[in-house]
Amino acid sequence: MNRTMKIALFGPPGAGKGTQAKYIVEKFNIPQISTGDLLRAQVREGTPLGKMAKEFMDKGALVPNEVVIEMMKERISDGDCSKGFILDGFPRALSQAEALSGIVKLDAVVNIVVDESALVRRITGRRMCKCGGTFHVDFNPPKQTDICDQCGASLYQRDDDKEETVLSRLEVYRSQTEPLVEYYGKEDIVHDFDGNRQIDQISSDILGFLSKLEG
Ligand code: ADP
Ligand code: ADP
Ligand code: ZN
Repeated sequence: MNRTMKIALFGPPGAGKGTQAKYIVEKFNIPQISTGDLLRAQVREGTPLGKMAKEFMDKGALVPNEVVIEMMKERISDGDCSKGFILDGFPRALSQAEALSGIVKLDAVVNIVVDESALVRRITGRRMCKCGGTFHVDFNPPKQTDICDQCGASLYQRDDDKEETVLSRLEVYRSQTEPLVEYYGKEDIVHDFDGNRQIDQISSDILGFLSKLEG
């Protein structure tokens, strides 16, 4: 690899960021850094940070910026991130993007664009595994009902994937996260992908684009 591959996956909740990140990890062997996964691990372990974060997550609100920024700064400074990484779910607010710019320059923002009408069904049908596996009851079912294809553990539905919370999360996306497309647009690094298609059609476009970026 000649160039670094420091990328952020963008898109509303349910766009398919986590799903697409798995393909990128597999092909380019760079780590996926998901703030949502990191926060859920803290919640599961019952740490003070996890207890605090859960209150915000359950409401569909953002966890306070300082907390998330600190967590990400630490993670990005790990040795496995030196050649590249995929940010999934970060940055999500202007102050997060500004803090990130202070430590690293992104090479590309992969923006997954999906019609709003599709998102609620994607999210309410999502089933997760603690290993990071992501499935959908109709669109991407596991081979065996409620069992993870990757590790065999039981799948679960996230507390915040209920319809009431989803609507708040979409509103938070529109007001706080979507403006970042313009922020990164100024650096000319945003690339849109039509996320309304099948999972493998989207991934083949994204992987093709990243191969060219790698140079
Ligand atoms: P995000 O990380 O952006 O919130 P996920 O990758 O978790 O999104 O995807 C949300 C849900 O939609 C999951 O249940 C996933 O299996 C499903 N999904 C992902 N991509 C597609 C797609 N292109 N078409 C239909 N369903 C999809
Ligand atoms: P999705 O992609 O489905 O929105 P995530 O797993 O990325 O879900 O995030 C779940 C929740 O974790 C968010 O609703 C929010 O409460 C919290 N969270 C994740 N990333 C961030 C972030 N960068 N800043 C603040 N809160 C975050
Ligand atoms: Zn699993």
